[in-house]
Amino acid sequence: MLKYDTIIVGGGAAGLMAAGQSAESGAKVLILERMSRPGRKLGITGKGRCNITNTAPLAEFIRQVQPNGRFLRSSFSNFFSYELIEFFNNIGVKTVTERGGRVFPEGGKAVELVKSMTSWCKNKGVTIKTEFRVNSLITEDDYVVGVSGLFEEKGKKELISFTANKVIIATGGVSYPATGSTGDGYELAKSAGHKINPVWPSLVPLVTEGTKARQLSGLDLRNIKGTVWIDGKKTGEDFGELSFTDFGITGPIVLSLSRMIVPEVKENKEIIFSIDLKSALDDKKLDNRLLRDFNEKGNEPFRKILNGLLPKVLIPVCIQDTKIDSDKSGHQITSNERKELRKWLKNFNFKVTGHRPFEEAIITVGGVDTNEVNQKTMESKLVKGLYFAGEILDLDAPTGGYNLQIAFSTGWTAAQNY
Ligand SMILES: Cc1cc2nc3c(=O)[nH]c(=O)nc-3n(C[C@H](O)[C@H](O)[C@H](O)COP(=O)(O)OP(=O)(O)OC[C@H]3O[C@@H](n4cnc5c(N)ncnc54)[C@H](O)[C@@H]3O)c2cc1C
Repeated sequence: MLKYDTIIVGGGAAGLMAAGQSAESGAKVLILERMSRPGRKLGITGKGRCNITNTAPLAEFIRQVQPNGRFLRSSFSNFFSYELIEFFNNIGVKTVTERGGRVFPEGGKAVELVKSMTSWCKNKGVTIKTEFRVNSLITEDDYVVGVSGLFEEKGKKELISFTANKVIIATGGVSYPATGSTGDGYELAKSAGHKINPVWPSLVPLVTEGTKARQLSGLDLRNIKGTVWIDGKKTGEDFGELSFTDFGITGPIVLSLSRMIVPEVKENKEIIFSIDLKSALDDKKLDNRLLRDFNEKGNEPFRKILNGLLPKVLIPVCIQDTKIDSDKSGHQITSNERKELRKWLKNFNFKVTGHRPFEEAIITVGGVDTNEVNQKTMESKLVKGLYFAGEILDLDAPTGGYNLQIAFSTGWTAAQNY
């Protein structure tokens, strides 16, 4: 059996960071990656641009992470966004900070960042073995001493084992399984006695009832407020962009609110996603605006006046929903009709009936219970020498660079103590 100091299972964001850092401390390191090259998911992040982190302060960062952001306090204190940006600058990846504190590589190419990280690992002496799917941990008493798995080459499969003093599981979650993350790590963790909290897809588009969304497919709305009502109770809201698709709704505010919606869909609760199309105006201001429009364009038909209020494709939907006669002139619109229109503009509602699958989810909620992992080292509290890093841990956050920072910080932490 070939012997290493540290074996990293999974060559994604967390695995590459853990590997390079371990090698930098002098360890003999092996990455075992089941795909033909490392960093497949990293290479498609941020719509191909890779939003590596966010400049939000530490307290805000921790607040964004669920279900237990405090687990990351120690990790973030040692290796946070400033250190990550410095790290990338040092390996030749300059960065830019954009709206909302989102940090990207200056070159705008996620695949280039993957190449830089992979070269950094190789230059530090890390061995990367691809097409190798780890399927079991080798343990002795309470210690991990290696891993076994299948190496696949030209259709032939070979069972190989490697030994090490330290094994870091960085196999990711189950979202976008085509990138290699299919949940294998959960089985490995379970075999070591770890509790896996229920997993579900998050940052995922939502399916809505009926054909209204399909009718609007391709329409992108900006500066709108989305409010989620579950069984009549307001449970969340967000402000920003939303898009319509053939099956329902997507876009930044839908993805972020999906975290609370997905488990409720499973419970068959009544979920309404309400869109406020005029979130900058309260009811009074909106009424003044409508009065002004209807007076100034008093002789024009209602359907034409709506041009100044709504994107074109929304006009027939508005007329259909409010049941206001589209030929009525501005002067003829009654105060009750104005009230109806205001209600519609502030509550353009969609019933959520489902969500898209893991194949389309940006992140996995759930995973290895952090109560059984040492937050200062990422070492298992159950099996010595076994470590976890990245999305396999039950930690997740909204879009904005938070999830990659979690992967990089936990990868960095797991690499210490060689
Ligand atoms: C489309 C998309 C866009 C995203 N954009 C962003 C973004 O811009 N910013 C952000 O912060 N987050 C983003 N994320 C989330 C982010 O990519 C993940 O949180 C992050 O990649 C997790 O890193 P990881 O190393 O834990 O897991 P992964 O990156 O999933 O890596 C796990 C690796 O383990 C390998 N593996 C799995 N099982 C085995 C096994 N049995 N044996 C060997 N190897 C194995 C896999 O092949 C994979 O290479 C995005 C996610 C998606 C899907």
